[in-house]
Amino acid sequence: MSKVKVTYIPAFDDNYIWFIHGLSEKHAQNQIIIVDPGDEIPVIETIEALNYTPQAIFITHHHGDHTAGVSALVKKYQLPVYGPANENIPQISNKLSQQQETPAIYFPLMGLTFNILDVPGHTKGHIAYFGHQLLFIGDTLFAGGCGRIFEGTAEQMHHSLSKLLQMDDSTLVYCAHEYTRDNLNFAQRVEPENLYLKQRIEDTQILRQNNQPTVPSSLQLEKQTNPFLRFEMDSVKLAAEAFAGHPLNTPAEVFKTIRYWKDTLD
Ligand SMILES: [Zn+2]
Repeated sequence: MSKVKVTYIPAFDDNYIWFIHGLSEKHAQNQIIIVDPGDEIPVIETIEALNYTPQAIFITHHHGDHTAGVSALVKKYQLPVYGPANENIPQISNKLSQQQETPAIYFPLMGLTFNILDVPGHTKGHIAYFGHQLLFIGDTLFAGGCGRIFEGTAEQMHHSLSKLLQMDDSTLVYCAHEYTRDNLNFAQRVEPENLYLKQRIEDTQILRQNNQPTVPSSLQLEKQTNPFLRFEMDSVKLAAEAFAGHPLNTPAEVFKTIRYWKDTLD
């Protein structure tokens, strides 16, 4: 389990804005990195109420619900803005992509380092931040689901999600939306016999009834229950073939079919 403290601010209907805190001593813990601030107002309120010192902004992709608060925060706190090299976001001061040397980002006073993954599909330049067993994945992977494919192709999204299968099970996945209940309803259509999924649906209901976030989740739980990471499983392949009405020959085709299947329901 990661030692890094991460807190959150709810924004809009179902967004999460994440604060990554510095390691160990109290001074560093009040230093924060702000992830995907779609709205500056609750961010500034929290910073002032809790006496935090913002150090930087991380952006995963260009959508307004992840970036609309950036300009106001930069103006107020003079922060560096890290973000995807392959998207047109004018506020970015540090452009990042996976090709860069590791670690890509280093905050010595906070004791934090992060690497970058290119995860196109939802948008064409979407990146994720990975360090200290934490994964800030934006709208690429959701708890129990994955982002819609707006700019990229299903093949790109499949390739992006395949990268996550290589990562350690203990990785904590911080996505940007509370979509979990809806996602798990779809997952159950795909894999009605999945016992991990049944348990997760129960656990999720309890969390939401108590107004608790279902994020972060472990990558292990996602590998066990998220159909968009389970395109190599026979159960998911069979369900996708039943939906498509014909055989599917590759895991990428299985992924593409279940993404399309969910799109038809949303
Ligand atoms: Zn988005």
